[in-house]
Amino acid sequence: MRLIRFYILIFIISYSHIPSLYASSNFSNVHPGGIYVTEITKAEYNQDLLIDGQKILKWNKDNKFYLLYGLSYHLKTEQHSFEIKNKDGDVLREIRINIVQKNFKTQKINVNKKYTEPTKKILEKIKKDRIKLVKARKIWFENNPDIEFILPVKGITTGTFGTKRFYNGTEGNYHNGYDIAADIGTSVVAPSSGKITLTGNFFYNGKSIFLDHGRGLKSIMIHLDEILVKENQYVEKGQIIGRVGTTGKSTGAHLHWSVLVNNTYIDPELLIDKRTIEHLNLEGS
Ligand SMILES: [Zn+2]
Repeated sequence: MRLIRFYILIFIISYSHIPSLYASSNFSNVHPGGIYVTEITKAEYNQDLLIDGQKILKWNKDNKFYLLYGLSYHLKTEQHSFEIKNKDGDVLREIRINIVQKNFKTQKINVNKKYTEPTKKILEKIKKDRIKLVKARKIWFENNPDIEFILPVKGITTGTFGTKRFYNGTEGNYHNGYDIAADIGTSVVAPSSGKITLTGNFFYNGKSIFLDHGRGLKSIMIHLDEILVKENQYVEKGQIIGRVGTTGKSTGAHLHWSVLVNNTYIDPELLIDKRTIEHLNLEGS
């Protein structure tokens, strides 16, 4: 125990004057909706790491250890700082990063009035849906995830992360995922392995699948025509899990795919085009 305290003390001392080193991350994707990535020690990896009281994603590959932290779309400041703590509340690291703002596009969409002016009955359904969705978002599935994702559908990109959206002329939520248009019935595959934590037919999202890859990294696939998996089922990367559709608040056949890390939506493209992996390789070399 004394030895552990000694190591913790060493940690605190050795990191207390380091934050300036992290003042600018060379990872260009540190923008709203991006991921902050850094290498961590094995000792750090072997314990729960928390930011703002929330467990964060640790990743292990080839005996190297990393931390991946999703940055909110709503981050407006240029400088962002956060503390990494262990579960006893000891500060292990203090991170300061520069947030590079992006100019996200604007999109105008017309949808059925029931989506912009829901009736009382529909509001009740929305409330019930939300309870299930929030619960699935909070699940912690202890698994070292495979972060080298593949595209879940072969099709045409029709929507990217971060677009400001106006529904019937009124600004709605920003677009928190990636849209791929394809014919109804086209196979949707798991972008990476994981566990199915929720399936259902929701008012806004239509037929949906929550796929938990582990340690807070999750895929959400919505507007499906068909769901081919069951809750608590394990799936492999590339396994067919559903079919493209246009259920819920959708304007045409497509898959909407969102990715969560530390309960924060990030740009799914970061895991597809290997930018995240390349960064890790660079840093490790
Ligand atoms: Zn979408």
